[in-house]
Amino acid sequence: MAKIHPKDILDRAHWSARQIAKFAESRLHQVIERAAQHVPFYEKRFHSHGIKLRDIRQLRDISILPFTTRADLQSEADAFLARGTVRESCRRRAAAAEPGVAAPCVFLSPDEYETIRLIERRIVEGHGLTGRHDRVAILPEGLTPPPPTWLDSMLRGRRYYVPTSETTLEHLHVISRVKPDCVAAPLWALSRIGQEIRKGKTLGFQPRLLLSWGEVMRASDRDTLRETFGIPPTDVYTMWELGPVAAECPARDGLHVNFDLVHVEILHNDHPVNPGEPGEVVLTSLANDTMPLIRYRTGDVASWKKGPCKCGWQGPVLEGVHGRFEHSVHLPGGGYVGTRQIEHILDQFTNVLAYRLVQIEPRKVEILVVPTTLFNERTSAMMRSKCVELFNQQIGVEVKVVDELPIVRSPRRHSVVCKIKTPLTA
Ligand SMILES: [Zn+2]
Repeated sequence: MAKIHPKDILDRAHWSARQIAKFAESRLHQVIERAAQHVPFYEKRFHSHGIKLRDIRQLRDISILPFTTRADLQSEADAFLARGTVRESCRRRAAAAEPGVAAPCVFLSPDEYETIRLIERRIVEGHGLTGRHDRVAILPEGLTPPPPTWLDSMLRGRRYYVPTSETTLEHLHVISRVKPDCVAAPLWALSRIGQEIRKGKTLGFQPRLLLSWGEVMRASDRDTLRETFGIPPTDVYTMWELGPVAAECPARDGLHVNFDLVHVEILHNDHPVNPGEPGEVVLTSLANDTMPLIRYRTGDVASWKKGPCKCGWQGPVLEGVHGRFEHSVHLPGGGYVGTRQIEHILDQFTNVLAYRLVQIEPRKVEILVVPTTLFNERTSAMMRSKCVELFNQQIGVEVKVVDELPIVRSPRRHSVVCKIKTPLTA
């Protein structure tokens, strides 16, 4: 990768559509060429699929390349590293650790790592803050940046990183003590801070920017966070493997894709979807030659926004990320309904304390409901009919009243679970 110039990366926010398309196309070519020649995994993979570099002439030819899956990355991690890479001189980004399993990670050169940080800075600056703002980020250990250099501390505002493994009270304590301009954390962590504040703890200040990621944001989450922090949250679609793929625009008109970080495809049955239609997000890293990922299946469901963003951004824009593939309902006739749409319907039932919708068979869905005292047969019938309609009459819906929802080992809420075999889980 060419030497980075911070200003160049920050200025890309104002590029024309033509500049963006030209950049993405030439960068994609470089990435594929380099991977085919220097990365053992892709060398072997392309060879076994009979793919020659001359077959890739335009951006759309990328569709002939095979997908890369998370399982590939886990089982053949070493083969993804470009030949000649010295690990010790690299930075790494790792997934959140699970007990007893080594967390998978990706390696980047220091320049590539810095590029991601500059793209993060571009998001923050797009929301009116400067490089000198103070920030508190709640992050898993694997994503905590190295300690600042002397230059960093001179040029930038204060940065505090609190591990997600700390308690909610500790998170709240650090935030209310530092009083940063920007608070960045997974949605579940922010929601828990919100709960503490509603129980009587205080924040004592108002940040200027609240970045949130990690799961689909419901309208009710947005309202709660606005009440708690005094400002609406900004949704970021980020992945440990790649960095911030897209972030909500200040005009709140969709998520701007960081076109210099990733090339995004949204596919249904391996074909690109039209704007507004949901599909699986497939990503190609454009800023990591050390350990490139090409056509990486994310398992996330998203859709493209119809028309350009009203804020003037000329790059690609996502309408929204609708949840995980395994947290969507798969329609027997093709297509799926994401968490966001399902929560939008079910959150309206205020006489329900908690729910989980589980697809147990291709044509059968169960809604487990923890009722309030106001819940009755009518609610149940209404829930059923709203969902049957949402699933295009293709799926039968049964409502089951339970005392509590089965525990899931995740801080995230799993309001939709798909238990049938899908192209990703088969
Ligand atoms: Zn915008």
